[in-house]
Amino acid sequence: MRSLEPRLPRDARGDFVNWAENVRSTPRAWCLPTSEAAVSQIVRDAKARGGRVHVVGSGHSWSAIAAPDDVAISLDAMSGLVSVDAARGRAVVRAGTRLRTLNDALDARGLALPIVGSIVHQSIGGVIGTGTHGSSLVHGNLSSLVSAMRLVTGSGEVLALDEGDRRLDGARVHLGALGVVTEVSLAVVPAFRLAETVERISFAEAVQTLPEIARSAEFSKVWWLPGTDDALVFRYQRARSDELDSRRPSPRSLRWFDDVVMHGRVFPWLVALGRRRPSMIAPLNRVVLRSLVHARRIGRSDLMLGTPMPILHRETEAAMSLHRGAEALDRLGALVRHGSMHVMFPAEMRFVRGDTTWMSPAEGVDTCQLGAYAAGDDAAIDRYFRAFWREMRAISARPHWGKELDHDAAEVRALYPKFDRFQALREELDPQRTFTNRFLGLVLDG
Ligand SMILES: Cc1cc2nc3c(=O)[nH]c(=O)nc-3n(C[C@H](O)[C@H](O)[C@H](O)COP(=O)(O)OP(=O)(O)OC[C@H]3O[C@@H](n4cnc5c(N)ncnc54)[C@H](O)[C@@H]3O)c2cc1C
Repeated sequence: MRSLEPRLPRDARGDFVNWAENVRSTPRAWCLPTSEAAVSQIVRDAKARGGRVHVVGSGHSWSAIAAPDDVAISLDAMSGLVSVDAARGRAVVRAGTRLRTLNDALDARGLALPIVGSIVHQSIGGVIGTGTHGSSLVHGNLSSLVSAMRLVTGSGEVLALDEGDRRLDGARVHLGALGVVTEVSLAVVPAFRLAETVERISFAEAVQTLPEIARSAEFSKVWWLPGTDDALVFRYQRARSDELDSRRPSPRSLRWFDDVVMHGRVFPWLVALGRRRPSMIAPLNRVVLRSLVHARRIGRSDLMLGTPMPILHRETEAAMSLHRGAEALDRLGALVRHGSMHVMFPAEMRFVRGDTTWMSPAEGVDTCQLGAYAAGDDAAIDRYFRAFWREMRAISARPHWGKELDHDAAEVRALYPKFDRFQALREELDPQRTFTNRFLGLVLDG
């Protein structure tokens, strides 16, 4: 069982290793600054010797976006709330803060983020920088909550992007390419509770009614377990104040059961079984699907929207406009069925409100974001992801920056109309490319 506590994503030898253990690199040194001034000094030192620095958040990206080639900076020591203005709905947060710490700190003040993704172990700098999202057409991805930001640029100077600065649209989904983000101002709302319902419908119905599903609740998402003919629709609506919290009286035992029993023991065993006997995967997925249908549950918003920490697996994800989501889901279904692929793990369709952030997968359009997830045999997963992207490229889908992708700069440029503006901002803030790494070289310059 893996520890759920925050830890530096590195092994005993000091190599960077991401959560999924599919990306490694060997930085020259690790720096853990405790102040903006210390960050500036690290950047100046690197610049002076023509070196590079790259921030490592919590290492939860499947892509190599966080892998440092030279000096690694962790902001784990620059964490916590700086200030809260509940009346204006703003919280200033240090960029090294992990989501779980932030959610608890906000809850203690009767506040919450309006939306969160599936897990809470990532850093704020990382989630905004990759366009991490939950699922809602009412709310955008987490970067869309950012109204101001401070960052140390390639010259080592501190740049404050205040509310209204047009460069914020470039800096929200920053890819780690513009500088070291030290603080962000985020939109917060009064704490709220959500009621979750799970509906089982046919896969065909999910495809036919996808836009309606997307609009049927403040938060909704669809899961399909390959090998089954059914889909699950998860919906989250505001709970009435007189409704009891179903995660009480024993949230600890529920969490323990999910984390230790299901994800620590049962799912690894199922994955191992599926790996030995691929023909068992479809029947196993049918069992898993049934286990996910449960009665209405109510609880704190971030706990309801989150999922238990999954077992080690791989993910890739494609964002397409809302009106092409059904086609994407249909293509995925056909691919798995006709390609005779044995895929253990769900495919997930989530929805994200369009935004104005240049490198956001939801830039300019409400999107469906289709995640293909898999555990087990790496060669089979490679084949699945390659086939997945053949289908997704056919509908001009954009890749999620934190998940596996193999796009080059020409392709990224064609998918992101504001690519050149982002590159111009990069030129302004980091002309010497002090913050680049191999991954950024491929997707931005390759
Ligand atoms: C189990 C699991 C569940 C997930 N669930 C979701 C989900 O529900 N929705 C979703 O969209 N994604 C999800 N992801 C993907 C994840 O949210 C993103 O990959 C996110 O970037 C990870 O944050 P991090 O702190 O680990 O960043 P890292 O992966 O460490 O870094 C990502 C990028 O941000 C940069 N960076 C980080 N901090 C800073 C900073 N302060 N200044 C400058 N650059 C910085 C890094 O240099 C790098 O370029 C999930 C990942 C895992 C492993």
